[in-house]
Amino acid sequence: MLPKAVLQRAQAELLDWNGTGTSVMEVSHRGSDFMKLARKSEQDLRTLLSIPDNYKVLFMHGGGRGQFFTVPMNLAKRGNIASHLVSGEWSKIAVQESAKYLQTEVLAENSLIDGVVKAPSLNDCKVSPDSAYFHYCSNETVNGIEIFDRPAFGDTPVVVDMSSNILSRPLNIEDYGIIYAGAQKNIGPAGLSIVIVREDLVGLEREDTPAVFSYKEQVANFSMYNTPPTFGWYLAALVFEWLLEQGGLAAIEQHNIRKCDTLYKFIDNSDFYSNNIHESNRSRMNIPFLLANSELDEHFLAQSHKEGFHALKGHRFVGGMRASIYNAMPQEGVDALVEFMREFERTQG
Ligand SMILES: *Cc1c(COP(=O)(O)O)cnc(C)c1O
Repeated sequence: MLPKAVLQRAQAELLDWNGTGTSVMEVSHRGSDFMKLARKSEQDLRTLLSIPDNYKVLFMHGGGRGQFFTVPMNLAKRGNIASHLVSGEWSKIAVQESAKYLQTEVLAENSLIDGVVKAPSLNDCKVSPDSAYFHYCSNETVNGIEIFDRPAFGDTPVVVDMSSNILSRPLNIEDYGIIYAGAQKNIGPAGLSIVIVREDLVGLEREDTPAVFSYKEQVANFSMYNTPPTFGWYLAALVFEWLLEQGGLAAIEQHNIRKCDTLYKFIDNSDFYSNNIHESNRSRMNIPFLLANSELDEHFLAQSHKEGFHALKGHRFVGGMRASIYNAMPQEGVDALVEFMREFERTQG
């Protein structure tokens, strides 16, 4: 979901962007108008996340999965072993992709105790001393598992897939070597990926790394080695401005906590709906839930769709339902969903 104000602005300036008499999709990415947008968007992202000067910000192609191979290729000169935590579907796929390039060790996986799923504690993971980096996913979009621990791995750089919770709360950037995110969950349209990389991790790529996916080339060319996904970048820029207008990430975090509390409280107080993720790992962005009687699933989905609730079907890997309540989802959207769920339980339960 994108903020309505952002979509309205994009609509209003679609045919004449910035007084150019053309759309943003038609201007040269190297022209002064687009370069100005690019610089400002990077500055806004730096402000939002308090990104220190020794970190580079890249706007790349290839979404989240694109980084699953881009990271091992670009860090290959740090060593042959990549250490991974697996906490759900996305981190599992990251392991498969990494194993094509580096020896990839899985340090820990989730536990299931009394029907409750819990992710391992981040800092209990023992990384091999000669590991090139430690990789994890801070929000498992499919499973609804979020990891809130601050990583501390000494000299081993931490690489994190934040595709589905980036910009949902403030971060301490210096805890990480590389933060990456496919844009389409919490930033903008699909295709764009944002990469925040510490300077000393640039230039360690394999010789055969394609230039388009080389951090070194992209840093040297201000993310314009090839034509960047310009419309995605433009919308991301509007979303960054919108986030600043909302009061920045501390304000957004409060808003997100309030939204997810509303939904989890309702689910926990009901015997009709359930969520089996340990309290310490409950995602603020993606809230999966099951109906006590799964025979009602199809009816629930059809009925909710009719009333204007979209994309409530759980991911095909896990089934059930899932409410994705990214930054742009207003509190009223969550309140309306709870009202719908209450009424469904009353009439069908
Ligand atoms: C969606 C998602 C991806 C994959 O993103 P694509 O842009 O489809 O490649 C990777 N990681 C996480 C956590 C995601 O939510």
